[in-house]
Amino acid sequence: MLAHRALEIPPFLVMEVLEEAQRLERQGEHVVHLEVGEPDFDTPAPVTEGALEALRRSQTHYTHSMGLYELRQAIGDDYRRRYGAEVAPEQIVVTQGTSPALFMTFAAILEPGDEVILANPYYACYPNYIRFVGGVPVFVDIHEEEGYQLRPEAIAAKITPRTKAILINSPANPTGVVLTAERMAAIAALGPLVVSDEIYHGLVYEGQAHSILEYTQNACALNGFSKLYAMTGWRLGYVIAPPELARALQKIQQNFFISANAFVQWGALSALREPACQAEVAGMCDTYARRRLFMLERLAGLGLKIPQPPTGAFYVLVNFKRYCQDSLSFAFELLREAKVAAAPGIDFGSNAEGYLRFCYATSLENIAEGTDRLGRYLAKMG
Ligand code: PMP
Repeated sequence: MLAHRALEIPPFLVMEVLEEAQRLERQGEHVVHLEVGEPDFDTPAPVTEGALEALRRSQTHYTHSMGLYELRQAIGDDYRRRYGAEVAPEQIVVTQGTSPALFMTFAAILEPGDEVILANPYYACYPNYIRFVGGVPVFVDIHEEEGYQLRPEAIAAKITPRTKAILINSPANPTGVVLTAERMAAIAALGPLVVSDEIYHGLVYEGQAHSILEYTQNACALNGFSKLYAMTGWRLGYVIAPPELARALQKIQQNFFISANAFVQWGALSALREPACQAEVAGMCDTYARRRLFMLERLAGLGLKIPQPPTGAFYVLVNFKRYCQDSLSFAFELLREAKVAAAPGIDFGSNAEGYLRFCYATSLENIAEGTDRLGRYLAKMG
C-alpha cells in the first residue's frame, strides 16, 4: 500500500524516547527530560498579545502566500540590523515552521540523484528531507577534538558534478558549535548554493553567529520563531532566498499550504517589533547561558569530558563510548533504569554513535536531578 518514500523514512528517534518517557509517566514514574530541544519558557507575553489582538481584529483570513508584507519587512529589518544583509520582502517566504521551510527548499532544488553536502553529526531530519525528494546526502565527518568545526577543504573534497547544495547549521544541533566567520566565508566561496539553517541564531553564549547572507547571495537562509522566541507550538518559520528560488517556494506554498496562519504571523510581528519582547528574549538567553555552564560543570563532575564546550543553541553532545557502543539501547536503558531521558547520538548520524545529546533548555533543578541520576547509573555500571 505504501510508497517507498513512506516505507523508508526513518523515525525521529528523539521523539521515540520522548514517547517512551511519556508512557513511563502515565505509570506514575518521574522522568527528567533532557531529550527534546524546546525552550521550557512560555512565549513572551507581547507575542501572545499580538496574536490575540489580531484575532480580535478578525485577522482570520488567508494572507499573501509569501506571508504578511509587514512581517516580511520586519524579517528583512532584523537581518539588516543583525548582519548588515539587504533582504527585500520579495525574497522571503513565511512558512509553518523551519521544518517545512527545509522540506520546501529541498523539494524546489533537487532532481533525483542530486547531492547535498552536510556535516555528520547533523540535525536528525536533514537527510530525511533530502532523500524524500530523491536527493542524496553526502556527509563530511566533523570531530569532537576539532570542536566540530566543518572544514571548507573537507567539503571541497566532496564536491562532484551532482552537488546541488551545501547545508550548514550554525549554531548547530546537536553539537552546539558556532561556525567561525572565516569558515563561513570559505564555504560561501566554494560555489554551490549554501542552504543555511539559522534557527539557533540569537542563542550564542561566546563569540558571534554569522548569517550566510553576509558572505554570498547564492544562498538561502532558513530561520524560525520556535527556539529564540520560545514559540515551538506556534509553528512559524521562513526562507530568505534568491529571487528565482523565492518564486518557486511561493508556488509550492500556494499549492500545498496556501499561507501560514494569519494570527500567528501577527504574533511573530510583535516578536520582532516589540522592545518588551526583545528584552524578555535577552533574559531567556542569560538563563540559558547559566544553565549551559551548570550542565558542563555537572558533566565534568561525572568524569564526562567535553573537549570543546558548545557555545550556542542549547545542547551538549557527550561521549559515552566508555559505557556504550549502541546509543539507542543505552538511551532507552538510561530512561527505564534511571528515569533520565536523553537523545541517542545515532539519531544525529553514524559519527555521533556512542554519544548522547542533552538539552539544557530546562531548569537548574532538573539539570541537577538529571545529572545526579545519571551519575548514580554510571556508578552502578562501573
Ligand atoms: N532545524 C534545526 C537544526 C532544529 O533543531 C529544528 C527543531 N528541533 C528545526 C530546524 C525545526 O524547527 P521548527 O520546525 O520548529 O521551526
